[in-house]
Amino acid sequence: MFNINDTIAVAVSGGKDSISMLHILAKMKTIRPKTTLIAVTIDEGINGYRDEALRIASSECSKLEVPHKTFSFKQLFGFTLDELVTRRIGKANERLTACAYCGVLRRRAMNIAAREVGANKISTAHTLDDEVQTILMNIFRGDLTRLMKGKPLTDEVHPKLVRKVKPFCEIPEKESALYAYVKKIRLQATPCPYASEALRNDFRSMINAMEERHAGMKFSVFSSMERLRLDLNQRSKHEVLGECAKCGEPSSGSLCKVCELLKTLTK
Ligand code: SF4
Repeated sequence: MFNINDTIAVAVSGGKDSISMLHILAKMKTIRPKTTLIAVTIDEGINGYRDEALRIASSECSKLEVPHKTFSFKQLFGFTLDELVTRRIGKANERLTACAYCGVLRRRAMNIAAREVGANKISTAHTLDDEVQTILMNIFRGDLTRLMKGKPLTDEVHPKLVRKVKPFCEIPEKESALYAYVKKIRLQATPCPYASEALRNDFRSMINAMEERHAGMKFSVFSSMERLRLDLNQRSKHEVLGECAKCGEPSSGSLCKVCELLKTLTK
């Protein structure tokens, strides 16, 4: 996933997984001095939630001597997530959850942030649990494009799209939590107020119940998907990305997903 002279934008939300990843990458850096780490936090603008995470992220970064930058939805898109969620009422996308907006905008924000700090890789702390949830969610939605795109190391598809790596993709969430506990990493106490809206919660419960009864199931799903991706990748044509007519960011359509979402909310 990493090359020796990478400049890595480490996506640090302030949660246990991202802080554990930051600790491990900082440790790796001591034996790879040519690697540059820059921690990046995206502030979605969620009142009473993100502030605590930002404090934890900032204090862990200064402890590890990793430079830290914060980018906000407000600064990049003109709205906080709280404002967007209020605006969705009565609009065409009213039924979209806060997490659906958050996911699309956060991916864009992270890519812009990585470019601004000069990174050639974005490292995110998606665990095995996150990966299996995402795989099954995409299968249930019939979203094959996203199923294929969610690789642990993304392809180089557009010069403006920074490649993503997921070094924790085979690490169960419990092990990442245990690492944070052993390292005495301060954990965020406040949950996101929109978390209960997330479809992911239903998949998390279902998958955990399956794993409890059939140990190793999570890893089997993940490795099956890896083999399938390899096979399908060889057969299918690579997606050619153009640029959004409005914002100029990489997009498969004439208007990117971010501009489409913002358009419906600002009408
Ligand atoms: Fe965003 Fe949903 Fe996560 Fe909250 S729970 S930070 S709204 S994705």
